[in-house]
Amino acid sequence: MAKSQKLKVLVPRAEIRRKVREIARRITRDFRGEHVHLVGVLKGACVFLSDLIREIDLEVSVDFMAVASYGRERNSSGQVKLIKDLDSSIEGMNVILVEDILDTGLTLDYLRRILEERRPKTLRIAALLDKPSRRIVPDIRGDYVGISIPNQFVVGYGLDFGERYRNLKDICALVPEPELNEHGHPKHTP
Ligand code: 5GP
Repeated sequence: MAKSQKLKVLVPRAEIRRKVREIARRITRDFRGEHVHLVGVLKGACVFLSDLIREIDLEVSVDFMAVASYGRERNSSGQVKLIKDLDSSIEGMNVILVEDILDTGLTLDYLRRILEERRPKTLRIAALLDKPSRRIVPDIRGDYVGISIPNQFVVGYGLDFGERYRNLKDICALVPEPELNEHGHPKHTP
């Protein structure tokens, strides 16, 4: 099993809960009297989506898409590939793409293009986290965004590092371990 990494809580569970409720309230208000279709981006968004859906006071249905992204690496390759498509048509529906984190914007830009072609009635983006300083696609922004965070790699609440840590209740930053010398002490860096 892989060595454990040091973690530092960046967004505590109480704040996550507050933000999820706030996003759900805004969606409920914006689509009053209508049906919304949530499209979760696997796997990272599954925890956010399952909390969000229970706070939305509307008729709701759910579908999922999966894309190849980081894998075990910390940096995006810049390539997005569809691995799992939707189960059913979204034509004429109020679709909300639900993503864990908006980083470079490449994933959501790709998914937005594919879904727009299928002629939904409306297409919105909900992302729990946003790293605006990492954006490559300038015109991608979330309609419902929870928390802006600095450029740090985070795990927990559905987000993984090599498939670990998805079950953490808080969102945590991975703290880089110092390199050790032969005595087990941190190497001195000039
Ligand atoms: P983008 O295409 O916007 O660069 O990346 C979006 C995807 O990259 C997210 O859905 C997520 O899977 C992954 N990602 C981006 N930043 C992080 C991060 O800090 N932690 C983890 N675990 N995944 C991230």
